Amino acid sequence: MSSQQQTSPPVPSEPHTSDSDCSGEPLGKVCTVCGQFKALDEYRPYKGEGRFGKRPLCKVCQREYESRWRSKTKEYRQAQRQKRAVENKIYHQEYYTKHRAESLVSEARRRSAKKGIPFDLDEHLEEIRQRFEAGVCEMTGLQLDFHCRRISWNSPSMDRIEPALGYVYSNLRIVCYAMNAAMQNWGEETTEMVMRAWLEKRG
Ligand SMILES: [Zn+2]
Repeated sequence: MSSQQQTSPPVPSEPHTSDSDCSGEPLGKVCTVCGQFKALDEYRPYKGEGRFGKRPLCKVCQREYESRWRSKTKEYRQAQRQKRAVENKIYHQEYYTKHRAESLVSEARRRSAKKGIPFDLDEHLEEIRQRFEAGVCEMTGLQLDFHCRRISWNSPSMDRIEPALGYVYSNLRIVCYAMNAAMQNWGEETTEMVMRAWLEKRG
């Protein structure tokens, strides 16, 4: 994450002056900014270096000082926020693509064992993850959605080009869920034939 950000303006130091009455009871003090002598309750309490446990600036000057500081650093803080948002997005993108690639490979491993078909995707996890990161369906070029918690039509999925050849890296393509579902076990050729017929009939 980004370096630590200052959240309040620095406090200027205060010259030492005598502001108490003859009994030694503090009545007020001089503000370091406007130079006016003001009662102590005109100052905010302060644990730092300030006489009588009060800030060196009066409340009025403090407010002005802070609003000036805020407007001066507004652009900087906006830029920082934007930077964090971008970093966050990249982080989540990486997390989701990695996570999704791993979970789909595990799913394919289970399905291969059950169906008794070849499987070698564990050896290609990094390459698969990189293909996921491209973020598009390799058949349609449509954007994939990694953020959806439920399956949506454009959730990423792994398709066997030739179903009988199994989940082998050379037989793999990353496609949107809708495309995968449409092809099911009949493969690309049959699906294309059906789709063409549908589009022609529809006109
Ligand atoms: Zn003041």
